[in-house]
Amino acid sequence: MGAARIAAMAHRVTLIPGDGIGPELAEATRRVLDASGVQFEWEVVDAGEATIASHGTPLPDEVLDSIRRNGVALKGPITTPVGSGFRSVNVTLRQALGLYANLRPARSMNGVQSRYDDIDLIIVRENTEDLYAGIEHMVGRDAAESIKIITRAASERIARFAFEYAVANGRRKVTAVHKANIMKLSDGLFLEACRTVAAGYEGRIEFEDRIVDNMCMQLVQKPDLYDVLVLPNLYGDIVSDLAAGLVGGLGVAPGANIGESGAVFEAVHGSAPKYAGQNKANPTALMLSGALMLRHLGYPEAAAGVEAAIRDVIAEGKRVTYDLGGSAGTSEFADAVIDRLAVGAGAPA
Ligand code: NAD
Repeated sequence: MGAARIAAMAHRVTLIPGDGIGPELAEATRRVLDASGVQFEWEVVDAGEATIASHGTPLPDEVLDSIRRNGVALKGPITTPVGSGFRSVNVTLRQALGLYANLRPARSMNGVQSRYDDIDLIIVRENTEDLYAGIEHMVGRDAAESIKIITRAASERIARFAFEYAVANGRRKVTAVHKANIMKLSDGLFLEACRTVAAGYEGRIEFEDRIVDNMCMQLVQKPDLYDVLVLPNLYGDIVSDLAAGLVGGLGVAPGANIGESGAVFEAVHGSAPKYAGQNKANPTALMLSGALMLRHLGYPEAAAGVEAAIRDVIAEGKRVTYDLGGSAGTSEFADAVIDRLAVGAGAPA
């Protein structure tokens, strides 16, 4: 069965093309989502380098207003200007919209070279506090201090998100990752909050905890032992890149930033300026982020269809981008995924 029209009402979604390779990837992803059977009305708003010149800021108010109005955004990567005085758009967006959960699935794909072929991990990273709270200062001239903030409320909220995700997606186990043996108060509080939340899911979702250094080693040696991981901000940032590396790298790592009243879906990778405008970069990560968006909007079948079509095209290996050993451009890869959606994933090509 091809992609059927499954939604009568068009979903209004904010589309931020972004910088560097962003616009090409966003266009490829928009075309695939339009072919998924769900109807979209795209509200395109600019953020990043272009708006520094036109608006004097990389994050104009109209971008935040648009996401607040629509509740959902698909975002291309944005270059963080070094030393320009502007804060990272990505960090500002997460804080301004209260996007407290960073969801980063890592799943092996046939046709993507990696050490393992059976990885299926979900990384849930707390997105608002920890060392990313941005509270740091010099102590005299030769020392600097960064403050690590961990609260019970934010820790329980992210643990609940991880357990609810596990329940909703048929996962078996949640592992809390921490360094409570050394940071007894801050990471100790995170672990305690996870244990409190875990008690409410006893008998349904298994719970365990791991110290972060041991977790990294275990993920490299025995990734199949793990399922959903929940982590404070900094460990989440690092461990999710490790997990992306386990399944073949940045080109295929999707992500979502989710809050109470909004969600922004984006690839883990950045704007790769050296490939900008060349129709060369791999749009898989943003397309898979688009599939996460479909699931978030309540279309699990359309999401599974897009994921399967991407997997089929990559497994076949004929119309893939340079990083996957092919010679297709960004838009040809999108054409291949759309062709696959039309015949139905899983069917012979
Ligand atoms: P990057 O992810 O942009 O690129 C690193 C390298 O990875 C590239 O040179 C390329 O070889 C490869 N790569 C990345 N994405 C690819 C894709 N889709 N297809 C094929 N190859 C791909 O990392 P960087 O060079 O460190 O960062 C560039 C800019 O992006 C910086 O300004 C950084 O701040 C920004 N950034 C933005 C986000 C975001 O918007 N969420 C995330 C990370 C980095």
